[in-house]
Amino acid sequence: MTTLTKRRAIARGSLIVLLLLIFWIGSAIGWSFHSSSRENVQEKLAGGSSSSNGLTEPPPGMRAYKVVIDAGHGGHDPGATGASGDYERDYTLSLARKVFERLQDEPMLEPMLTRSDDTFIELEDRAAIANEWGADALISIHGNTYEDSSVEGTETLYMNKNSVQLAESMQHEMVKAMGFRDRGVKKQQLKVLSLTDMPSALIEIGYLTNGEQESRMRSSEGQAAAAEAIVDGLKQYFDIKEQQAGENSRETGKTEKEASPIKIYYNGAASDGKQTALTFDDGPDDVVTPEILDVLKENHIKATFFMLGSQAAAHPEMVKRIVDEGHAIGNHSWSHPRFEELSLDEAREQINDTQVELEEIAGVRPSLFRPPYGALDEENAELVHDMGLWIVNWSVDTMDWSGLSTPDIMDLVRDEIWPGGIILQHSSSGGGSNTVEALKQIITELGEEGYAFVTVPELLHLPDSQNGDL
Ligand SMILES: [Zn+2]
Repeated sequence: MTTLTKRRAIARGSLIVLLLLIFWIGSAIGWSFHSSSRENVQEKLAGGSSSSNGLTEPPPGMRAYKVVIDAGHGGHDPGATGASGDYERDYTLSLARKVFERLQDEPMLEPMLTRSDDTFIELEDRAAIANEWGADALISIHGNTYEDSSVEGTETLYMNKNSVQLAESMQHEMVKAMGFRDRGVKKQQLKVLSLTDMPSALIEIGYLTNGEQESRMRSSEGQAAAAEAIVDGLKQYFDIKEQQAGENSRETGKTEKEASPIKIYYNGAASDGKQTALTFDDGPDDVVTPEILDVLKENHIKATFFMLGSQAAAHPEMVKRIVDEGHAIGNHSWSHPRFEELSLDEAREQINDTQVELEEIAGVRPSLFRPPYGALDEENAELVHDMGLWIVNWSVDTMDWSGLSTPDIMDLVRDEIWPGGIILQHSSSGGGSNTVEALKQIITELGEEGYAFVTVPELLHLPDSQNGDL
């Protein structure tokens, strides 16, 4: 063997070793990437919540937001047939998987899919997956359809009031990314949205029946853009800032606060069944409140009264009657100010004076607080939380104070009610005159639909006072 051939042999040998090495590394990376994303899908589908791959761990002290990505239709339910003849179910699955994969790079967002293959899942089950996992948001992906193929555009649907902001973020980002006509954010009664406990939005990315839109939607570039839009919309919604290296330690205090906002209840869990809570604000008075109490007594219903300290002081006998008849009470401030305009000390006084007044009159120190106008900035929310009170708003606004007719009030109730809903009426004179008539119809109609009326503490599984275990 000459030196030359030897050198050649060595060179050839090392080349082979090198190639093998490259091939081995390549396949190892490819394999592990593939298997980890696959495992992840299955794990998430099974309802597991541990983040198995270290890449997606949120920064220390911060919690990731759990997001359910729901691919519309599937299996024997093909959804819309696109201009190309392809089905909606395949488009939604493909895009949902891309969103899921893209979310692996976002430490603050933890995704779960409702389906990762072409199977059919009942709408109830999609909502149940999200509810059981304790998701913070659900995004349902769809493509639209219409007999007239010229119709086009993006729209986002929501149902409950707590979902408006999420829907708006999604719509905004999707229109920007896809460049389709902005058909807006719409409220619509949809099962998958109505049964979820958390904010949820259904995006109709575009019209699959419009040839041009369909090809853009199905293209890999179009899907990457749509997936990015969903991720951006979520980050905007959860107010997640891009984390620059080194920025974390400096701003930990601030970002931690942003990452764990104080919970505000708008409704109970739909998974608890057909329950709803009747709530009455701004009272008590000696005109409307006794009528409301009579109706409730007649129907053996316990409700929740969010009272003003000033009104309680003026009508202590009514506070006593409310408590004696088994209703729950909450704090609605002393004089109904806008809390954003108060100093922290003023806010504390509004709440504390009312707690003291109610306890003096009826011996009950409420565990619930409802801010006037449902409005509370972050600082005040923290104050209320620190005072040991839960913040409760509502999901069904009867607008009774505005003088709306009973049929109009009933339309609102039918439109906004779902299992776990909290209904807002008012128990103060000078408001609308149809409150009591509407109340009777709400009780009759929702009763016929199988709703049980419970107090807010029952609905939300919260203690009904700060006095200890009552
Ligand atoms: Zn009020």
